[in-house]
Amino acid sequence: MKVVDVKNWFCRYAEVIQEKKSFLTELDSAIGDGDHGTNMARGWKEVQTQLKAFKGGLSECFLLVSRTLISHVGGASGPLYGTAFLRMSMVLKEKEHISVEDWKELLNAGCEGIGQRGGTSGGEKTMYDVWLAVTNEAQQETGDDERSLFSRLSEAARKKVEESKELKALKGRASYLGDRSIGHIDPGSESTALLFETLDQTMS
Ligand code: ADP
Ligand code: MG
Ligand code: MG
Repeated sequence: MKVVDVKNWFCRYAEVIQEKKSFLTELDSAIGDGDHGTNMARGWKEVQTQLKAFKGGLSECFLLVSRTLISHVGGASGPLYGTAFLRMSMVLKEKEHISVEDWKELLNAGCEGIGQRGGTSGGEKTMYDVWLAVTNEAQQETGDDERSLFSRLSEAARKKVEESKELKALKGRASYLGDRSIGHIDPGSESTALLFETLDQTMS
């Protein structure tokens, strides 16, 4: 995967977020404060604008996303996603191409960043659960090509969103609801699954 592919992925995701804005907000209205769709749409619209003029390399591309999300998203999800993209940017220093093998380290770094920033190690019904499922899936030795890797990552993400619906939220605003959070999809988990589904779609 080259920088042009990464740009396509992020630009397409920005569109997906606009399309799913009300859905994400609906999910957050049920167990949070109803702003996840607007938070994400605001940040990713700015990413899209910034990327139009962008001419740099892979690492800078992830850094641009990180900085833009941190300064434009607002809410818990801004610094969380911002940290993931920042850590990923650090892994990509000097690289011009992301190989199938590189995804292991890349996702490890992003996932670890979210875990540290959010103070979670999983099972607490947050976006981290989905990042961890995707990261674990990437570590499997299957000797596959990029297309099958992205398809596995996307499936692992979606599966975790469904599974974690039944969890009780223990972090973030949804945790204020206690048992009443059970049975609802976590909004940040949904937006994370959309990120990896979009990766799969743009690269197939
Ligand atoms: P806010 O909750 O500040 O309104 P958003 O609605 O944009 O921010 O994002 C909420 C999402 O952020 C949640 O659905 C959850 O996935 C994620 N989140 C919140 N707190 C944490 C945390 N401590 N660790 C990991 N993820 C978290
Ligand atoms: Mg919210
Ligand atoms: Mg909020």
